[in-house]
Amino acid sequence: TVVAGANFLGMSLREAVVTAQRNDWQITTRGSGYVVKQTVAQQAGKQAIFVYWQPAQPGRLALRRSLPPILAVLLGGIALVILISHMIGKLLSAALRDTLSHLPNRRSLELRIAHETSKSATAELALIDLDGFKRINDNHGHQIGDQTIKYIANLLISHSPPNATVSRLGGDEFAIFVAGSDNKTSLAHAIETFQKALSKPVSVGDVQFHLSATAGIASVGRSKNNSVQELLVKCDRALGVAKAIKR
Ligand code: GH3
Ligand code: MG
Repeated sequence: TVVAGANFLGMSLREAVVTAQRNDWQITTRGSGYVVKQTVAQQAGKQAIFVYWQPAQPGRLALRRSLPPILAVLLGGIALVILISHMIGKLLSAALRDTLSHLPNRRSLELRIAHETSKSATAELALIDLDGFKRINDNHGHQIGDQTIKYIANLLISHSPPNATVSRLGGDEFAIFVAGSDNKTSLAHAIETFQKALSKPVSVGDVQFHLSATAGIASVGRSKNNSVQELLVKCDRALGVAKAIKR
């Protein structure tokens, strides 16, 4: 048996098939290829044949078959990574926000102060605590108390400088932080206008009441030794003094 290779004695497959048909050779198909046979000699009971075949190329076939599932898995993986990073982002942001007022929380404020003071920028902080807030809960219920906290959060935002960060530190305590300001009166002015707005009766739900707040302000200058705790402690002291004077 003689087997001619892929080029079938120099002929292309098409030529081979045409030649085979012309010469009345036997043509059969096997897999994806052709088998062309010609008995060229029959001698002493032995046959010589030419065979042309097209390789099945199982690798290419396997690749074509496995490409759609591979792409599906790849796209699914990318979608999963996007979803997970979105969820992590949401969790991180939730960890730094107060759930009631949606303002940044104490942790977030501390990080902000640390970031700004590490650049040895000037920074100002005001701590604001509502006066007799327990009374609002006692007289009107916790739900009205919660709505009052949201109302105060919005009032503080609307009276703060545009570059300020308003936070809720917990309970009825809020903060306004301004970094990089050389104008020492910026927060004092913001607190003044906030207090003025609060001097009018507060309307929450269907109840009206009077409310006041006390504030302490502190600042740190351009120094490499600025620290979060230094600013918070200074401000807390100022608030304590102001509260004591009111009582
Ligand atoms: P002071 O004048 O000395 O500041 O007293 P205060 O009555 O305002 O009470 P204080 O600041 O010592 O404590 C805050 C109170 O706020 C305690 C609690 O009854 C109330 N409170 C704290 N968190 C919440 C909250 O999320 N919702 C509501 N409705 N009330 C809260
Ligand atoms: Mg209070």
